[in-house]
Amino acid sequence: MTAPKHDIVIVGGGGSGLAAAASAAQNGARVIVLEKEAELGGCTAIAVGSFTAAETSYQKKAGITDRVEDHAQDAGKFATPGIEARNNAELRRYFIERSSETLDWLAGLGLVFQGPSPEPPNRVPRMHNVVPGARAYILALEQVIRRHGGEILPGARANGLILEKRRVIGVQAEVDGIPAEFMVSKGVILAAGDYSSSPDLIAENKGKEFAGIEGICASATGDGHRLCEAVGAVMINMDVTYGPELRFIPPERKSLLRRLPAGGVFRNVMGAAVPFVPKGVMNAVIKRELVTWQHPEDRIFRDGAILVNARGERFCNETVSPAREIAIAAQPGKIAYILLDERLIALYDQWPNFISTAPEIAYAYVKDYLRLRPDVALAMNSLSEIAALRCIPPGRLEHVVSVYNRYATGKAADQFSRTGDSAPLQGSRWVMLGPVKACFTTTEGAPAINRNMQVLDGDGVPIPGLYAVGQNGLGGQILWGHGLHIAWAMTSGRLAGRLLAGMKAP
Ligand SMILES: Cc1cc2nc3c(=O)[nH]c(=O)nc-3n(C[C@H](O)[C@H](O)[C@H](O)COP(=O)(O)OP(=O)(O)OC[C@H]3O[C@@H](n4cnc5c(N)ncnc54)[C@H](O)[C@@H]3O)c2cc1C
Repeated sequence: MTAPKHDIVIVGGGGSGLAAAASAAQNGARVIVLEKEAELGGCTAIAVGSFTAAETSYQKKAGITDRVEDHAQDAGKFATPGIEARNNAELRRYFIERSSETLDWLAGLGLVFQGPSPEPPNRVPRMHNVVPGARAYILALEQVIRRHGGEILPGARANGLILEKRRVIGVQAEVDGIPAEFMVSKGVILAAGDYSSSPDLIAENKGKEFAGIEGICASATGDGHRLCEAVGAVMINMDVTYGPELRFIPPERKSLLRRLPAGGVFRNVMGAAVPFVPKGVMNAVIKRELVTWQHPEDRIFRDGAILVNARGERFCNETVSPAREIAIAAQPGKIAYILLDERLIALYDQWPNFISTAPEIAYAYVKDYLRLRPDVALAMNSLSEIAALRCIPPGRLEHVVSVYNRYATGKAADQFSRTGDSAPLQGSRWVMLGPVKACFTTTEGAPAINRNMQVLDGDGVPIPGLYAVGQNGLGGQILWGHGLHIAWAMTSGRLAGRLLAGMKAP
């Protein structure tokens, strides 16, 4: 048999896979990245790009004293206690300790970060935002891989692992629809992202009623999770998901920031300029991003907003989640609209009532949506004008509002068992926000792994030759809050790549 052409095959060309490939290639390994899509990037490329870490050189420069120990504690304050109880504390502590080194590694590759910015309950500012956006990670890592002779193969979907006895010795794939095999001398790193866009995995693990809810990231089809299951890996927290939550549909045209080149000279110029950009200007830029992907705050509904579907009908108790999201996914086109009356428009036009936010960085109010996202925000003086512009049958919204108002004024029970509202919807100004969809942002289930990112079987024994990183290798960690997923993707990739590169072939 001829010797394998590659030391390491990496399945997935998103953040964690490219970090693994770059770090392995830097350390002398012969690597190939298989990416099923035509373009690299995965969910990482559509992310905001925040990277949360403690004891970083950026914090030190800003005079912020921090401790890994404090970060490990604070990271546990974002999820509900029930979810946090399922966290792999040992692994999360281990990763947090290595994240600042990863940030320096990325900065050494030419990436520039803004911040750190605060995000309570983190006790000190720890959020570092890559400039000009998350695509910069992809371009910088791709450059490193190519510079060190690594191969990148888009259009290559991995669909099986090749085993010799128990050891994983290669990957079966389809390259532009043609079957191919990629053998390795050292190991296979699975970096295929999450399963938020796999209705089957969602139904199996979370329940059939959730299967109609889409993931934000269409490439997150859980292929890497299936590959792990097929070779006997033990899977943890597969029912834990980030979301579902409401999201405004993205604009057809990408924002200016997303259209700007994210690499090379432009990134360097942006990076050099960042320290001199006034905070207000930076916030305005970030606000534009905020109205692109962020989800409307739940509080809007507790304050009296209602949801209608594309036919202008109410269909759920808007204050109860995730039943609300399940109901939206069952509506025509899986979309809904949020209706605000004059009182709510005034209420949500100033602090502390915002429509969406990246905490402590920027807040987007009704007026911001009307200005920056006219495709999902409509203001009119009457319900009939709103209905006409959204192709809702005449009279439908007036009827829905009058039925709701009978409940809100105590004359009848709500048809969807809503309680606690006492303000009828009324006035001479109305705003309709949407379409909104119900989406999973990401999923938190993955195979069990050890500190070397080796995938473990049901007895806790490593499956030889098999490694998993990023969302494909969460190993039971709960990484809620902003910036920990990317920090993990980059850190797990960097560590796995370096480790495998240094290993002797078996
Ligand atoms: C809108 C949005 C904003 C976010 N913002 C942030 C943020 O600012 N900070 C943060 O920390 N987290 C954020 N997240 C989460 C974070 O982006 C992801 O968790 C992280 O980037 C995942 O990286 P990954 O490498 O594991 O997966 P991905 O980046 O998704 O990469 C997986 C890759 O594998 C490929 N693939 C899948 N199956 C196969 C196969 N069979 N064969 C070959 N290739 C395959 C996919 O096409 C994809 O390119 C955000 C998520 C979303 C949706």
